[in-house]
Amino acid sequence: MKDLLTVLKDWEAVIGLEVHTELTTLNTKMFCSCPIEFGAEPNTHVCPVCLGLPGALPVPNRAAIESIVLAGLATNCEIEKRSMFYRKNYFYPDMSKNFQTTQGPVAFCMRGWLDLEVNGAAARERVVRAGTLPLLAEDGTGTASDVTGAATATPAPPIAQLDGYVTHIGITRIHMEEDAGKTVHYGGTDGRITGATYSLLDYNRCGTPLIELVTEPDLRTPEEARLFLQQLRQIYLTLGISDCSMEEGSLRCDGNVSLRRRGEVEFGTKTELKNMNSFKNLHDGLAYEICRQAEVLESGGTVRQETRHWEPAAKRTVTMRVKETADDYRLFPEPDLAPYDLTDEFIESVRARLPELPDAKRQRYTRDYGLPRADAANLAGDASLSAFFDATLQSSPQVARLAPRIANLLLNEVSAWLNAHNTVIENSKLTPQHLAQLAELLAGDSISSKQAKEVLAQSAETGASPQQIVEQSGIKQVSDAGELEAIVAQILAANPDKVAEYRSGKTGLIGFFVGQAMKATQGQGNPKLINEMFTQKLEV
Ligand SMILES: [Zn+2]
Repeated sequence: MKDLLTVLKDWEAVIGLEVHTELTTLNTKMFCSCPIEFGAEPNTHVCPVCLGLPGALPVPNRAAIESIVLAGLATNCEIEKRSMFYRKNYFYPDMSKNFQTTQGPVAFCMRGWLDLEVNGAAARERVVRAGTLPLLAEDGTGTASDVTGAATATPAPPIAQLDGYVTHIGITRIHMEEDAGKTVHYGGTDGRITGATYSLLDYNRCGTPLIELVTEPDLRTPEEARLFLQQLRQIYLTLGISDCSMEEGSLRCDGNVSLRRRGEVEFGTKTELKNMNSFKNLHDGLAYEICRQAEVLESGGTVRQETRHWEPAAKRTVTMRVKETADDYRLFPEPDLAPYDLTDEFIESVRARLPELPDAKRQRYTRDYGLPRADAANLAGDASLSAFFDATLQSSPQVARLAPRIANLLLNEVSAWLNAHNTVIENSKLTPQHLAQLAELLAGDSISSKQAKEVLAQSAETGASPQQIVEQSGIKQVSDAGELEAIVAQILAANPDKVAEYRSGKTGLIGFFVGQAMKATQGQGNPKLINEMFTQKLEV
């Protein structure tokens, strides 16, 4: 099979996503008062409504409607004031009602969009032919055009930037539905039904409110799909409507993918991909499927419309079932639930609750604090780190000039420490004031970046201030030029052979010299200063 980049030279991939998100932060289910709890004893959170027993009547969960309206507003959707629920009929053991309550042609949220910024290595999958995506000059002049240069179904062509591009992804709709229960198969391999000797049913998840977001087929590469899902996850996390755990299945993504020859306008036959339960699997599953379809088409075959299962271990997709059509489900209006009439007051009260979204935050960080674009994006995408960053900047008016350094500390040293201790910043003893102090110490060359790591670790563990730690433990950085000059001179005098080698071209020896000086200062010398001194002395 050809690799992805080779395939994408001849073929354009057309990808759409369906993203299911459980509203895990709600207390109760969609139409009853059973609690939502992951990992509870099987069949302990059930009642006549979510089991669909005779005579039980559903009562809608207002908080769930608020959550989906929040999601719609955050993704630029139009909120439909009048919509209703339908019954989607099918038999499956994990759904004892024999129908799923879902929405019909009109969902709560319709016609939204997100702009996707694709930078660096991720842009490579789209920019496959040199010159087909002209980059903007630094002053913003220059033309932007579609990658293919031909008419496509994408409404707006991507806008090229210096090191990547921005592409506009349409969102068809976000509708509300309820989740089914869980079937667990025993006796087979990998928990699948094949070869199983028996299966058990857990109805706890039945009736958990789900929102399903469907994109337009506007995505063109597996990287764009991955980035879209990451951006959406950040938005949902910021809204606080779900814990968005791909491992626990509260965020699930299916992909539709088809190919067409570059320059063609007609869509090819699509397949639907399932079981892509991580960002990497989403990318790799789509990449595999694109290459598989290219091979089928190039050998004169036709792609069959079907649902395929991604097998991460085997790195391939396999046929799961040939697709049912919507008609097979006999979708009809739910007689037990009246149509919704959302009022302007309701919609506006939800809009007033919208927090600052990652995209706006990212722009604020580059505009107000001059953060590098990648740092701004990474920080804005992490709700808890960005809240800490904002709190640090608010701790004193003097720290604004240190903002890039504070961002850098949070994204590197602080994140590394949190990962190593398997915790989150809220549970550490680090305070915004202490982080600002650490940045001050670094900026004033009082401590080295290596020492900063030590000080940070102590502060995060004990809650002591960096200033205090530095004073008590004698950590300091020697930046005294006279003291360092003497050490540098000694080392040069003691290593005449190395000096000669350096001067004959082995400039990599600078590391050796700096290392010796760091040793001589017990790690407290200012490495930047030492480096400069050696370079100056050696290059005469
Ligand atoms: Zn219930």
